[in-house]
Amino acid sequence: MSFAEEATTDVPTLPETHSGIPVYLLDKARNAKAGVFDGRTKPIRDRQRLPVVPQGIERDDFLAALEDLKAKMGHEFVEINDKALKDGWYMEHPNTHDMMTILDEEELVASAVVYPSTTEEVQQIVLWANKHRIPIFPISMGRNLGYGGAAPRVRGSVTLDLGKRMNKILDINPEDYTCLVEPGVSFYALHEVLKEKGYDHMWVDTPDLGGGSILGNTLDRGVGYTPYGDHWACHSGLEVVLPTGEIIRTGMGALPGNNTWQAFPYGFGPYSDGLFSQSNFGIVTKMGMTLMPNPGGYESFMYTFQKEEDLGPLMEIIRPLRIGMILENVAQVRHVAQGIAAQGLPRSKFYQGSGSIPDEVLHTAAAESPAGDHTWAYYGMSYGPSHIRAYKLAIVDAEFLKIPGAKKVDPSTLPADDYYFSRDRIAAGIPDIHELRWVNWTPNGAHIAFSPVSPIRSADAMKLFGLGKKLHQQYGIDFFPAFIVGLREMHLIVEIVFDRDDTERKQAAMDCLRDMIDQAAALGYGEYRTHLVLMDQVASTYSWGDGALMKFNERLKDALDPNGILAPGKSGIWPKRYRGRGWEMTRESGLVSEGKGADGL
Ligand code: ADP
Repeated sequence: MSFAEEATTDVPTLPETHSGIPVYLLDKARNAKAGVFDGRTKPIRDRQRLPVVPQGIERDDFLAALEDLKAKMGHEFVEINDKALKDGWYMEHPNTHDMMTILDEEELVASAVVYPSTTEEVQQIVLWANKHRIPIFPISMGRNLGYGGAAPRVRGSVTLDLGKRMNKILDINPEDYTCLVEPGVSFYALHEVLKEKGYDHMWVDTPDLGGGSILGNTLDRGVGYTPYGDHWACHSGLEVVLPTGEIIRTGMGALPGNNTWQAFPYGFGPYSDGLFSQSNFGIVTKMGMTLMPNPGGYESFMYTFQKEEDLGPLMEIIRPLRIGMILENVAQVRHVAQGIAAQGLPRSKFYQGSGSIPDEVLHTAAAESPAGDHTWAYYGMSYGPSHIRAYKLAIVDAEFLKIPGAKKVDPSTLPADDYYFSRDRIAAGIPDIHELRWVNWTPNGAHIAFSPVSPIRSADAMKLFGLGKKLHQQYGIDFFPAFIVGLREMHLIVEIVFDRDDTERKQAAMDCLRDMIDQAAALGYGEYRTHLVLMDQVASTYSWGDGALMKFNERLKDALDPNGILAPGKSGIWPKRYRGRGWEMTRESGLVSEGKGADGL
């Protein structure tokens, strides 16, 4: 299928497929798809490196092992990855590779995909992988875009697409405000089911885009925009298949007959859940999640700030308000460049030159936008009945307006499709699909993030902003920073948007990312999450005590996964069989993702 043909298929809906779009967003999704395919020129190429066989096993042994897997799982539930690599788009994404790859597209690809339907089948696959020493890589929905999507870190891994057949909401408890989900339940899907059941007293906390799985997003420590924001902090209880095939339940789940698995996350003894987040120590097959009580009213607000330097004083204002819960949800301070790109138009509509887009061009475009010219926009929401909101909003207003030139934007002056309303829905627990529009900025638009953590302070914000801006200018890249304020810290999220069919721009993006990571680390800042290709570098910045933390992780890895089969290299944790063979991706290794073999071959 050519991409022209791909462009004409309709967007899959829920419940047609577990990963579909809810009907209330169908038109929006169709428009989003048209925008993506309008800017697509990258052809679907013939495969260059077939068959894909993971290093560490002979080709014939591998093909025989796959036959063994098919016999166990059913032939239709094991697919060899030998077809053309179709990138699709957000709602029709591949499970074989990173649709937004910054490497050559044949680098981070799966050899095959398997679709288990139960925890016991996941266990069977793990035992099979151990028997044949084949690397496996679990995904829930595979929409972790900007961080690697569905791609495995080790080329030729067999991907476990858990979401396709394990997508049940196993329980919703309307009294305790909790649920228990399998890997394939998206934010869209849970929100739909809450509506269907008439459970409007409970909200699901949703991230910028609602198509990812609740489980995968939580394991990767994603955030949403209601006061529940921190997904990992809000989960309670996991069921995990260990790399050697044992199944455990964490927290209260370890107590047979308990009725508190989703209500009390800790249980008794060491709190083991942390081991399974951003890790390669287990495959999570069930997860408990808390739901937010409907606060009985809500009201979005947006302020704009004129100058780049306003960022510093703004952070000093935000910190006490956020820690004191006057600012109740994960706050966003977005740079106007991203706001302009969020209109979904190509960069060429604004600027045809090379190098970073000049500030004057951005301000001219902003002046014509409904919110008027500005440099920073703050999106927030106040919750509760109107008199409670009025109290908090008055404090926010008095504080924000201390910054000269600050303006409160009147939502009634904004068009119905303005980005503001997308933020409004998301902060009220209603998943949306607006966010990806800034990817249309370049042809074949892809994105990759740099996301360092800092305190909510003027000096830190300005240092990180300055560092990012300088390096983006050096590499001729447009700078899209947004500060996402948690409770006592903030993440700067810088999305580099690049043409994934332009080798030179991809190299520039990689160089810029590597410099940002190193220079931020030299100032004491580390990433909260990263793309597969940057995991080794980011892990190496967490080097206190002569790399004591990584040594600890490696000891755990070797104990839990002696054959090194589960997601080798994830978060920079390489099992013994791979260590010392050049698998780490560094500045020196360039755009090559593979090392030389694995112990045994
Ligand atoms: P999403 O479901 O939000 O699209 P992904 O499926 O892309 O997210 O997963 C995000 C990250 O979490 C990936 O690195 C993936 O390997 C990891 N992951 C996802 N699901 C599981 C799981 N069930 N067990 C262990 N790791 C997982």
